[in-house]
Amino acid sequence: PSSARALQALDSAHFLHPFTDHQALAAKGARVITHAEGIWIWDADGHRILDGMSGLWCVNAGYGRRELADAAHRQMLTLPFYNTFFQTTTEPPVRLAARLSELAPPVDGRRFTHVFFTSSGSEANDTNVRLVRRYWDLMGQPQRKVIISRWNAYHGSTVAAASLGGMRAMHEQGDLPIPGIEHIQQPYYWDLRESGETPEAFGVRAARWLEEKILEIGPEKVAAFIAEPVQGAGGVIIPPATYWPEIQRIVDRYGILLISDEVICAFGRLGHWFAYEKFGIKPDLVTFAKAVTSGYVPLGGVLVNERVAQVLCAGGEFTHGYTYSGHPVACAVALANLELMEREALPQRVREDTAPYLAQRFAALADHPLVGVAETCGMVAGLILVRDKATLGRFPEEWAVGMTCRAHCFDTGVVMRAVGDRMIIAPPLIMTRADIDTMIDLIWRALDATLAD
Ligand code: PLP
Repeated sequence: PSSARALQALDSAHFLHPFTDHQALAAKGARVITHAEGIWIWDADGHRILDGMSGLWCVNAGYGRRELADAAHRQMLTLPFYNTFFQTTTEPPVRLAARLSELAPPVDGRRFTHVFFTSSGSEANDTNVRLVRRYWDLMGQPQRKVIISRWNAYHGSTVAAASLGGMRAMHEQGDLPIPGIEHIQQPYYWDLRESGETPEAFGVRAARWLEEKILEIGPEKVAAFIAEPVQGAGGVIIPPATYWPEIQRIVDRYGILLISDEVICAFGRLGHWFAYEKFGIKPDLVTFAKAVTSGYVPLGGVLVNERVAQVLCAGGEFTHGYTYSGHPVACAVALANLELMEREALPQRVREDTAPYLAQRFAALADHPLVGVAETCGMVAGLILVRDKATLGRFPEEWAVGMTCRAHCFDTGVVMRAVGDRMIIAPPLIMTRADIDTMIDLIWRALDATLAD
């Protein structure tokens, strides 16, 4: 603990944290996380905390997986780095691109033949902005520039990715969005339903906001629509079952590209390798990052359907890339991670066992006096903290009830993330039913502590 205090002082003096209010941080000092194993993290004061957020939606295979460390070690000694710019290549990214292409089911008989690698989800979405505009240029339709996204979406923090995102606070601080990006409302039933409207009716109405926007802009100017299958950082916003089929009908009708941002939803999180399978949607591009390596090293990228890949590959140089596009160490770890997930059948285990069990146990949290709605999709879940259960009456925003609850969760021994008055989780996929029971008990106790506060 004394060295932890020294670390906190250094942290406060030198480390600019992402998405953090530094005055609030300095008042308490950062919690120093020292090590982790399985689904548990430990802090410098010796507290053991169940990691309900898988780090930051990424440690799907859990902590302490030696084979991932071994893969990195081996690759570092063999070839730590070589670029892929000089008409050169290395083995791990080639094998990984081929593996991802195998894992991603074809849509309408068309395979995801190619992968563009980055080091993060943000860079992958920046890539998407350039890639779809390049595609339409090559198709002889250079006026197709506009990309439509959704309010409250999170697509990353670089200038283009934050513009694609629909976080108003990010736009305000960065003078965003950049030109050529438009937003529609998110399919958040609990906030946007009309009185008496069913989730099914709402889902169709919400999807039609896309059609209205396309017609407002002019269909000939629209390049693509980007969306997360389930909005994650926006608060685990689970669309009604009718939403995605209607979105697909609309993108098909106007011939615009569909980008499925699966930075959170892929690699077993929703019980499939890729979430577009679950929703039956047919993306042209799929953004991935995070759990492709279970977060052990940074890696992201874009899976490109052959319809788009053929045009790009025949179109001369695409003037875009990163030093670390196809980093051998990151790709070697990803290959080991996918092998591990396949051996342990993690997507299947989620689909058939742990997600249905989590759904049942998490739904029971709605019996707590503070909880209005509790819903899950695969291994993500969100609940709404309410002041009045009967009417789903919400707390005033300035009470920051979510942040209070998050602090109680940490103190009780479970990580939950607060997004306004929504409390969300995305635990490691290696969880057993007994682990889920433990997690739900801890959440219940943290809710009790919040209520007492
Ligand atoms: N897209 C989605 C859906 C995300 O959730 C995130 C990060 O949380 C990103 C993109 C950005 O990824 P990164 O933080 O790796 O840049």
